[in-house]
Amino acid sequence: MSEIIIGIDLGTTNSEVALVRNGQVEILEIQNGSKLLPSIVGLADDGALLVGEAALNQYVLRPENTIKSIKRRMGEEAQVELGSRSYTPQEISAIILKRLKEIAEKHLGEPVEKAVITVPAYFSDVQRQATRDAGEIAGLQVARIINEPTAAALAYESNHKGEKQIMVFDLGGGTFDVSIVRLEEGVVEVLASHGDNHLGGDDFDQKIIDHVQEHLAEKYDLQASDLSSQVKARIRRAAEQAKITLSDNPFAMLEEEYLLKWKGQVIHLSLELERHSYEEMIQEFIDKTLEAAHIALDGAGLSVSALDEILLVGGATRTPLISTRLENELGLQPRSEVDPDLCVSTGAAIQGAIISGQQVSSVLVDVTPYTFGTSALAELDGELYPYTFIPLIRKNSAIPISKSEAFYTAFDNQECVEVMVYQGEERDALNNTKIGSFHMEELSEVSQGNEIIATFSLDIDGILQVSAKEKKTGKEVSITIDNAIAQFEGQQMEEAKARIGQLFEGEVDVEEEGSKTRQREQTQARALIEKAQRLMESAGEEDREDLVDMVEQLNDTLAKGSDGEIQSATEQLADLIFYLES
Ligand code: AMP
Repeated sequence: MSEIIIGIDLGTTNSEVALVRNGQVEILEIQNGSKLLPSIVGLADDGALLVGEAALNQYVLRPENTIKSIKRRMGEEAQVELGSRSYTPQEISAIILKRLKEIAEKHLGEPVEKAVITVPAYFSDVQRQATRDAGEIAGLQVARIINEPTAAALAYESNHKGEKQIMVFDLGGGTFDVSIVRLEEGVVEVLASHGDNHLGGDDFDQKIIDHVQEHLAEKYDLQASDLSSQVKARIRRAAEQAKITLSDNPFAMLEEEYLLKWKGQVIHLSLELERHSYEEMIQEFIDKTLEAAHIALDGAGLSVSALDEILLVGGATRTPLISTRLENELGLQPRSEVDPDLCVSTGAAIQGAIISGQQVSSVLVDVTPYTFGTSALAELDGELYPYTFIPLIRKNSAIPISKSEAFYTAFDNQECVEVMVYQGEERDALNNTKIGSFHMEELSEVSQGNEIIATFSLDIDGILQVSAKEKKTGKEVSITIDNAIAQFEGQQMEEAKARIGQLFEGEVDVEEEGSKTRQREQTQARALIEKAQRLMESAGEEDREDLVDMVEQLNDTLAKGSDGEIQSATEQLADLIFYLES
């Protein structure tokens, strides 16, 4: 077997290690199921060296004995203090690299000697050399230093034939860069890169921290200067957690019991933050990243339409507003199915395998081939429309996945909501495939705007669980749709098989056919009713009245009429719709 060259993403906030064995990429677990090693080094009270999670935990208690974000200082002639000694940035980075090397050795059960290490595309020669030195200090031969966007492109497209122009949008904890790369026959070239190495998820956290501090100032007259560094570190942690929660949920609670004692009073933090308000807070940062994306495109001499893919890299790109804004402005749905935190180390491992002459299979990730969502009264092409499709789980998302959205009742004392579940890509939900629906009844008697949280969870076996929860009371209703991914195709396949089977047998089950016809007629009648309801908004008064009458009549016959009556009421409504539309 050829020698294994490990791939390392030496990040500002987190670092990861991966390798290729038997053609498959393996991303190594660092601790407790996590594949991220916080890029933090610290010294414990007893002088023990702490790396990663342990150093991060100590940061809350003793920030002064902890070193974070050393990557920012790579290439500087600087010394950082740790305990009674001082170290160069290369030495601190080497401590992180050494830990990753040990993890790989433990995993493989043999020594590891070589590594590919990634750096940002904008790193200067001096910074690259410092990274190489760090590798050597850690006891690694650095087989190659490669650009992070190059690694990301390799993770997605290692086996791609032909040419592709790709935007790699990388927003980590403390740095942002966007690169345009060209992939040609497996060779990746960075055409342009632009960014801001002081912009990232930490800035998003800071906005939430400011918000918490405003709350503390208002409620308890507590100023930032009154807070100890431990209290600040706890607030920072809670803020980051809330931010992460908001990526999948419409609101988050910032809760810290016994935060501090102030003027003889114990203060517990309990503050709700809605995604909508949070998105307003970070809007300015997202604007900046989009400007940078355009600058990078200009730098590469490419127009938006020349882009084939947008790849998302870095933990902070899980913020849904980023995908939405990119898609709106650049007209391409960004891809994120290779875990944005692990994408660069995956590519580094693939590069390592290529250097050592190993074959690498494409990185396989389970994704959903469809979008799943619900419908609601919302704007569609500038007009309010009751069946606007609200996607919750987007096509090509890696599964398992769980996403929640908030919806609001439209009327005072509304007792019931119907939750529709659709699969499809159309903005008009009625043009998608309805795969389920359920009612939630006996809602609280409150004015309109009662908040209902819908949650869609899709697991690896294609089972979709949809729930609706009244936020005020916690009351919840849910359904499970087995085989949500395959259902449509499977159903069609079964029907086709049955039809063909019947052809061969030369006989058709009359009763079954009859019930199918009835079902079809009822579905058609319901679709017509929905269409009529849409037409009501634009129809003149007289036509509207006719529509209302006929819809009522059809609804009545559907509830208690015979087949013939349903058919005749359907035809009448169809005629009127035809007349109104022509
Ligand atoms: P990286 O430097 O790529 O490891 O990214 C770290 C940043 O991603 C930190 O600011 C994290 O708080 C942030 N992050 C991680 N997960 C999420 C998430 N689900 N939503 C938003 N930000 C996240």
